[in-house]
Amino acid sequence: LPDPDVAALTDSDVDVLLPRPGKESDKYRRGVLGVAAGSDLYTGAAVLAVGGALRAGAGMVRYAGPAAPVAQVRAHWPEAVITQLERPSIDDVGRVQAWVLGPGLGTDDWAHELAARVLESHVPVLIDADALTLVARERSLLFRSAPVLITPHAGELARLIRVDRDDIEAARLEYTRRAAAELGVTVLLKGSTTVIAEDSRPARVNGTGTSWLATGGTGDVLSGVAGSLLAQGLSCYDAAACAAYLHGLAGRMAADGAPLAAADVATAIPAAIRAVSGDN
Ligand code: AMP
Ligand code: MG
Repeated sequence: LPDPDVAALTDSDVDVLLPRPGKESDKYRRGVLGVAAGSDLYTGAAVLAVGGALRAGAGMVRYAGPAAPVAQVRAHWPEAVITQLERPSIDDVGRVQAWVLGPGLGTDDWAHELAARVLESHVPVLIDADALTLVARERSLLFRSAPVLITPHAGELARLIRVDRDDIEAARLEYTRRAAAELGVTVLLKGSTTVIAEDSRPARVNGTGTSWLATGGTGDVLSGVAGSLLAQGLSCYDAAACAAYLHGLAGRMAADGAPLAAADVATAIPAAIRAVSGDN
């Protein structure tokens, strides 16, 4: 039976929600995203998150991180504006309308300090991956004035709300809703289908993806896509829904029945946007 409290998105829903530039647009007004991701150990996550963000329409992507990921991001994305951090602070990063926090960030003191600074800002923050581990250790990091979107897989959500991963896998919709209510944030639970929940809104379920997306780095691309949409002014609820839909569709198009690499998903995001676009 159809559940009135669950909605599945369609091409035209996403088409209507997606921001497009107009004559009045400039790169700043289209939305500037900050990406705080990557570490000297994990550089690829930063490259993939920035790539997803650039392909999803933000006017500018500012990357902030330590030397090793900075070198990689610079080499892959001349479009990104880069701040090499000598200390865990975002004071030297220019203005942004939203942040992506966490992919490849690590969980050491430096990462914790940087996460705390990003979460002190007054713009929406998407929290993923290692930053979810930091927040699981110190949930008060989530108490902030601006909106929060979290993008866990089942294991990350299990740690965050302190339940068994198997319990979450057995009741994904319920636990996604419960986490949203308990933590006061928008939750996008990743997996073979994606569930999105926000208190007092109908849950959304997305099934545009493909099992070929089960490969390293695709979650980092999703973070960038969703963050890009947050920076462009979508709410957490709509950014999460559009990102899940487009990322799944891009994965399906990139795979086309054969393996994909995460970077291919970022590359296919514009094609996915074209595919949902009517007359826009
Ligand atoms: P992560 O867990 O952070 O590596 O992110 C993995 C990405 O791939 C998420 O967008 C998942 O929704 C997607 N994904 C993983 N496994 C599957 C699957 N079996 N079918 C469809 N999508 C998947
Ligand atoms: Mg991940």
